[in-house]
Amino acid sequence: MKYDRVLIRYGEMSTKGRNRSKFTNKMKTNIKRLLKDDRIQVEAQRDRMFLYLNGASFDDVKEKLMHVSGIQSFSPVVKTTQDLDEMKEAALSLVEKAMNGKPASFKVNTRRADKQFPLDTHELNHEIGGHVLRETNDLTVDVRHPDFILTVEVRAEAVYLSSETIPGAGGMPAGAAGKAILLLSGGLDSPVAGYMMMKRGVEIEAVHFFSPPYTSDRAKQKVIDLANVLTTYGGNVRLHIVPFTHIQETIHKQVPENYTMTSTRRIMMRIADRIREQTGALAIVTGESLGQVASQTMESMAAINDVTNTPVLRPLIATDKLDIMNIARKIGTHDISILPFEDCCTIFTPAAPKTKPKTEKVQFFESFLDFDPLIDEAVRSTETILLPNNESEMDDLL
Ligand code: ATP
Ligand code: MG
Repeated sequence: MKYDRVLIRYGEMSTKGRNRSKFTNKMKTNIKRLLKDDRIQVEAQRDRMFLYLNGASFDDVKEKLMHVSGIQSFSPVVKTTQDLDEMKEAALSLVEKAMNGKPASFKVNTRRADKQFPLDTHELNHEIGGHVLRETNDLTVDVRHPDFILTVEVRAEAVYLSSETIPGAGGMPAGAAGKAILLLSGGLDSPVAGYMMMKRGVEIEAVHFFSPPYTSDRAKQKVIDLANVLTTYGGNVRLHIVPFTHIQETIHKQVPENYTMTSTRRIMMRIADRIREQTGALAIVTGESLGQVASQTMESMAAINDVTNTPVLRPLIATDKLDIMNIARKIGTHDISILPFEDCCTIFTPAAPKTKPKTEKVQFFESFLDFDPLIDEAVRSTETILLPNNESEMDDLL
């Protein structure tokens, strides 16, 4: 038995009225880009999408589709002619596959789009269901709460059967809601924040600040690997790596130690805003979560936010750490994030950062220095990498 096509059901986006075709086109592009298989054709219809496999393996496709945002669920489909014996045979092998050697309950759900077909849905359910029940042990019918549903769709050109519905990632297709800049550290939170935004349809450009020689190439590679994982959720990610050493050293010379963290974050925000302007992004996203660390109090966020009018989105603001860690595990960033390579902030973290910094004070400390040329220089020297790149170099480095 070979799957011929995959039926994809849209989630929320099927409710989005006139924007629907924008969403479906975006999803189609994301899927094509992710699958990278010329044999597979994608056809977007109003309320569902079909992938024509043309010989490609469903198992490979399944792994990737499960992560694509905007997909509610999907089902592999077998195609037969209208010959009843052929339909029965396909139904039986689908059921056996769905049972996977274990007892199960099922029901048959038939749709007859071709009204010329001699049997009606009731008779078809009976014919196919009866055949499958006779040929299988440990299978029962349960019309209310079946373990799985065997769907049979009779169309004029062919019959389509399916027994499996795989849940998708939900949300909206990446890129359908515009673009934002993600401040991506090597930590646990910011990759999760990026994922949450992508799931809402936001295209991400990531900005990472690194401070060689205080931070190693491995810390940088870790961030590249994290950004690469994010691309599996449906969009390309451009990663901007900003050299930050000079600025951090300057801050440490200029600003009293308990305010260095606040000031550092403010300069990061200014640089991120410059990159945002250049890339046409509409907002800045961070992994901040209220109360998690010294820099994440409301006073601190106010002092940091003071440098820009750009919306700063904090999707994790009210999420507990344990929940963030669970999402990180689920999306595959956790194990990369916990690798021990320090980022620029860990290394320069003061012993006692101000948890309730005052905006006027940090403005005053910064007023002794013109940061603009330093910011210009950092933006000019930024390295930009387009992801996905498919091999991880992390393995070589470890
Ligand atoms: P994370 O787990 O994301 O590293 P954190 O708990 O370490 O967050 P902070 O160090 O206060 O918290 O950082 C808050 C946010 O600032 C991060 O979530 C990230 O969005 C941004 N950020 C911190 N360091 C960097 C960096 N080196 N490059 C880019 N963004 C950063
Ligand atoms: Mg961090």
